[in-house]
Amino acid sequence: MIVLKTEEEIARMREAGRIVARTLNHVSQMVQPGVSTGELDREAELFIRRAGAVPTFKGYQGFPGSICVSLNDEVVHGIPSFERFIREGDVVSIDCGATFDGVIGDAATSVAVGKCRPRVLELLDITKRALDAGVRSAVVGRRLGDISHAIEVVARGGRLGIVREYCGHGVGRELHEAPQIPNFGRAGVGPVVAAGWTVALEPMLNLGTGDVRVLADGWTVVTADGKPSAHFEHTVAVTTKGPVILTLV
Ligand code: MG
Ligand code: MG
Repeated sequence: MIVLKTEEEIARMREAGRIVARTLNHVSQMVQPGVSTGELDREAELFIRRAGAVPTFKGYQGFPGSICVSLNDEVVHGIPSFERFIREGDVVSIDCGATFDGVIGDAATSVAVGKCRPRVLELLDITKRALDAGVRSAVVGRRLGDISHAIEVVARGGRLGIVREYCGHGVGRELHEAPQIPNFGRAGVGPVVAAGWTVALEPMLNLGTGDVRVLADGWTVVTADGKPSAHFEHTVAVTTKGPVILTLV
């Protein structure tokens, strides 16, 4: 069941989303060669708690970190570690959730460290554009498949692999609510998009194929061919005035 949110709940989600966005900004600025992913995690947790919120991911199904930090061929759910250091040329994907006043914001960004290959920069740019296309399609009266399709069109246009095993989702009172929102699909099918939907849209796109596997740690999702991946995510409210991104500063 898709839980519709009231205006009051959406206003609270905007506060949670703002904390997420500010945390991502802050931690992204720390990203540089020699910094460990554990340091990013520690700083994110402090930042979230100082804002009066709780890191949603910490302990979620046993996840040990406050954020996910995924490097290069790691797609999502990378576990932060004080023994894992960022290097020049890395792609660093950071996923963050904050619970504030009973509601949740969920967002992710990917950062290129120093000099990267042009195609890697394209990967980031196209993934961000795929997210934007999804957001623009989250309009009252359209179909869920329109959002998925809009993301897919940008990904295909950029010749990127689409991860199919993980997808966007409803978010709000819980981290993962209905509906699931794949990053591919047919336009014109699926539930009708309605005011009060709050969804996390999150294309995960790869330079190679879309195939992925999970490492022995039980969490880290990596590309099957070892090529880099990017991940951008926003929490979005569908309103009668159009889509509203809640995870902005
Ligand atoms: Mg997320
Ligand atoms: Mg999410």
